[in-house]
Order: sequence, then C-alpha cells, then structure tokens
Amino acid sequence: MEKLPDVAGEPLSGVVVSVSRRTCEVEVMTGPRTGEVLDCAYSPRLVLGRESLVAVGDRADIHPMPGSGWLLTSLEPRHTRLSRPGPDARNHLDIVVAANLDTLVIVASVDRPRFHPRFVDRFLVAAQIGGVVPAIFLNKCDLDVEEPDLSTYRRLGVPVMRGSAESGEGMDELRQFLSGKWSAFAGNSGVGKSSLVRALLPGALPDVGQVRSKDGRGRHTTTRAQVYRLSDDTRIIDTPGIRELAMHRLSPREVQLYFTEFDAYFGTCRFNDCMHDHEPGCAVAKAVEDGSIHPDRYASYLRILEGLR
Ligand code: GDP
Ligand code: ZN
Repeated sequence: MEKLPDVAGEPLSGVVVSVSRRTCEVEVMTGPRTGEVLDCAYSPRLVLGRESLVAVGDRADIHPMPGSGWLLTSLEPRHTRLSRPGPDARNHLDIVVAANLDTLVIVASVDRPRFHPRFVDRFLVAAQIGGVVPAIFLNKCDLDVEEPDLSTYRRLGVPVMRGSAESGEGMDELRQFLSGKWSAFAGNSGVGKSSLVRALLPGALPDVGQVRSKDGRGRHTTTRAQVYRLSDDTRIIDTPGIRELAMHRLSPREVQLYFTEFDAYFGTCRFNDCMHDHEPGCAVAKAVEDGSIHPDRYASYLRILEGLR
C-alpha cells in the first residue's frame, strides 16, 4: 500500500530571528505559512565547525515534532558572520552574533559622542573578518559642528553616507543603500543607531516579534534580537551582541591584512616579518610620514595590535 504523504510532517524553511539556550524562533520564509514565527527546539550538536550553535540570521529547516512543537533540524552554511570570542577560553567556539548579513553599517556621530576614527576602524576590521561588507553612516549632521573628513574611507572603497536621524537628512539615501539587504547597525553607544532604525521604519510594518504565531509560548531569550522588516527582502537586525564586537582570535600578524592600504607596501619593509610597529626601515611607517597612509588609520592599527598582545 502506498504511504500517504504526512502533510503535518512537511519541513519548513526559514530564518532564525532570536536565540535562547534551548530554543529559538524561526520566521518561516517559504510557502503558505510565510511570515509566521515559530518556537523551535534545537540540538546542541548543531555546531558549524568552530562556530557557535544557532545565530540570528541563520537559514534553517524545521520539522514538526510528534505531538506539538517544532525542531530545528539543519542549518545552512553561513555566508558571513559577525562574531565575538566565547566566554570559555578552552572552548574554541566563537559566538556568532549575526549570520548572513549583507552589510554592516558603522554609525558614527559628528559630535555627542565626538567622532573617533579608531572606533570606526575596529568595526571595519570586525566586519571584514566575517566577510560582511562595511559601510559608514555619519549621523547628527544637524549639529553645528565641523564634520570629520571621511575621504580616507571612500578611497578604501567603503560607502560613506551622512545625514541625521533627527532632521531626516540622508534617510532616503540610507534606505536606498539598505534596500534588498540584511543589515545591522554597529557603533558606539549614543551615536544614534536606534534613532536611525526608528527613522527608517515606515511605521505601518510591524517587526517580526509582533507577528508571532498563536502557538508560540513564553520563553527566556538570552540573545534578544530584533529583526526589523523594511520590506520583504530588506531587514535590519538589531542585537546587543553586535555592539560588543571585539577583536578575537586574530593573531597580531593578521591585523595588517585588514588594513588594505598597507597592501601596496607588502614585502618592501627591511624585515620580512615586519609588524610595521617600531622596526627600522618600515615602508608602512614611511608611507605614514609622507602622507600616503592616513595617520589616524595607522594609529588605529597600532592600537588594535596593542590590544592583542
Ligand atoms: P544608540 O545608543 O546608538 O542607539 O543612540 P540613540 O539612538 O539612543 O541616540 C542617542 C541620543 O542621540 C538620543 O538622545 C537621540 O535623540 C540623539 N540623536 C540620535 N540621532 C540624532 C541626530 O541625528 N541628531 C541629533 N542632534 N541627535 C540625535
Ligand atoms: Zn613595516
């Protein structure tokens, strides 16, 4: 006798929108249940290489469990990740705070807090480590303060935008840049990340947390993320972890790889293993002196290096 397909057993695929210790929420992305957010159990064995468990932004398949509830059964390999080191030094798992982001918008403000290139540079490195394309948004341009010169970043190929969440200036350009992407905003406290998200939201569209399905139960979310839907294919992920991005598992020697303007001097220092730090005959230090490399970027490099030693 031919077995009838078990309709209730059909898997669904979706995106993880929040993670707690034993369960996560998955927003269904295909089929008639698209848009529903389902509580799913997951196995701690779902570890991708040296990376953590389940992360916001992961694409996943889920199956209905006998009785009730859903089980996350597989995760797709991540295209990109933003991660920080795990709390246990012996445990080599990085904590991925967001997976599959298309872009990381590094937010800085002209004032309150004052602009510091080294804050931007740290986030630039963190984005590049995880393969996420960085962009910069200079906020609070409504303030009567001279704006920092960001042409160094433009020359590095980083899209630079400016404007004000308060006045609305630059919001169209930002919205256009974000269109069709999954993004997150990073930057120091007070630069205006939340204000930007509010300014971008059309208001009529709820974030996914508010369209949870009725069978969802209360749960303790340890990684509380918000996934804001600007349109069907445009999302902004807001998670506290993104604000804590740190340099991790980066050997001091690797840091220079993320300062792409150093590439031109590769192999031209007196010492082959030059760290471009204090060594005599350093071509990078010379390029800083003659103005080919911006001194702020070099200062950021030295600072990051220092933090890893
Ligand atoms: P976050 O910590 O990065 O999320 O920053 P918030 O969005 O909470 O903003 C911090 C403060 O800056 C708040 O008092 C905002 O009202 C203010 N703020 C945000 N954007 C702007 C802006 O474009 N111009 C001005 N003048 N203030 C802003
Ligand atoms: Zn050197």
